[in-house]
Amino acid sequence: MLDRFPRSCYYVNASYNKISCSWKKTKTNVSPGITPGLFSFETQKKREFMDFKEFNLNEKVAAGVVAAGYTTPTPIQAQAIPSVMQGRDVMGLAQTGTGKTAAFALPILHRLMQGSHGHVRALIVAPTRELAEQIHVSIGELGKQTRLKSVTIYGGVNVNPQIEKLKRGVEIVVACPGRLLDHINQKTINLSHVEVLVLDEADHMFDMGFLPDIRKILGHLPRKRQTLLFSATMPEEIRRLAHDVLTDPITVQVSNTTAPVTVTHALYPVGEHLKTPLLLNLLKHTDTESVLIFTRTKHRAKRLGEQLEKAGYKAASLQGNLSQNRRQAALDGFRDGTFQVLVATDIAARGIDVSQISHVINYDIPNTSEAYVHRIGRTGRAAKSGDAFTLVTGEDTVMVRTIERALGSQLERRTVPDFDYHVTAPKKDSEFARPPRQPQQRRGEGGKKSVALGRPPAPASKTRPTSSGRSYQQSGKPAHTTNAPPPRFKQPRNAG
Ligand code: AMP
Repeated sequence: MLDRFPRSCYYVNASYNKISCSWKKTKTNVSPGITPGLFSFETQKKREFMDFKEFNLNEKVAAGVVAAGYTTPTPIQAQAIPSVMQGRDVMGLAQTGTGKTAAFALPILHRLMQGSHGHVRALIVAPTRELAEQIHVSIGELGKQTRLKSVTIYGGVNVNPQIEKLKRGVEIVVACPGRLLDHINQKTINLSHVEVLVLDEADHMFDMGFLPDIRKILGHLPRKRQTLLFSATMPEEIRRLAHDVLTDPITVQVSNTTAPVTVTHALYPVGEHLKTPLLLNLLKHTDTESVLIFTRTKHRAKRLGEQLEKAGYKAASLQGNLSQNRRQAALDGFRDGTFQVLVATDIAARGIDVSQISHVINYDIPNTSEAYVHRIGRTGRAAKSGDAFTLVTGEDTVMVRTIERALGSQLERRTVPDFDYHVTAPKKDSEFARPPRQPQQRRGEGGKKSVALGRPPAPASKTRPTSSGRSYQQSGKPAHTTNAPPPRFKQPRNAG
């Protein structure tokens, strides 16, 4: 397999936060998941400041860049755009939040300005409806002056408007795999003119079981085409897919295990039964703009959303059990400020691009360090600053250490001075219990969560966390003061 793998690949490890700084190619800093030697490396010239003008984009596309307010290409854009414009296949190791959408959208728009219009020439496949919509919106913004048309194709909504739009003629299709296959099978889409294929968030498509669908879709595309594959991580299945679909690719990486430096992290050790009161305390005493909260399960997202609403917050939940319309309403409401707080599961929050998220709060710690980086990547976007709080119980010790190892530093443990950590757990924790009418409880949805999982920190303690991460007791710096201001949503955040 190795000798069949494309040999000429650039490897660029660039931090998104160093947009205007130089960045250097590193041969040794190989991302976990990339087998050293699988790719051969060519020296990437050290780049200094770069300007969008250097890409020589079609003037109508360049106008879209100006309208979007982009001045400096992000590292993934600086590295990928020239190669995509040359027609090269690209393997982009980058997550949402790095500017990867424009990294493929701009050269695609540029390319489509030449040649005929009215048939599908670019196909972008994404794992979720939300991401598909976001890509479609970005293309609409960046390509406003181009007269190129894009359509989204995903399930859970009426198929007829999609068929109508396809009939009228579009150049770009942004699709989720399942509904796209339906259109292919119903012959309501013609993919024989596709020149560029983008597989976005390929690792999530794999997580969601879409790889067989992707392979079926590939069978309906012209063999001669340009393919761009974006993935935040490189599990073996994605490596194999990349091997099968990419020809002589350039590989571009924006460090995916490094959280943006624009985000500050803090752990809040607490007993499981005190998570909600602590969350309410944090919301009350923190100057926030928009807050995205993550839970482990759909059920917990729904319940927590309801609890926050009861507590007076304009909150919504975003989880897979909602209809597409309600999901979109939650997302739109969060984006336009109708909802100050959105409680979501990992899958539902994939690719959420809401620029003003000031805080990500992990009500439940994620299962992997990659998921942590993904979650906190929802804040601190495009070089804005953000805060990531994670509520941790004693059971989360191993995961905390895994995350710290991945980030390469120990996270600050905080205690909230005015919070009573000594409230004992109720004998039966009914907080996330399902209503009695529901006969079965789904696995992992936390209805019978055990109680008193964490050892609550002693508020006055100055004990530093041990390197083993076993003790969460520490607070060198008080995280909050008792006379802190009430929540100030919709106001500019303090620069500091
Ligand atoms: P993405 O990773 O494509 O989801 O992009 C994340 C966010 O960064 C989006 O809100 C984009 O509008 C924004 N963005 C993309 N490229 C740039 C850029 N060159 N300068 C500033 N913001 C950007």
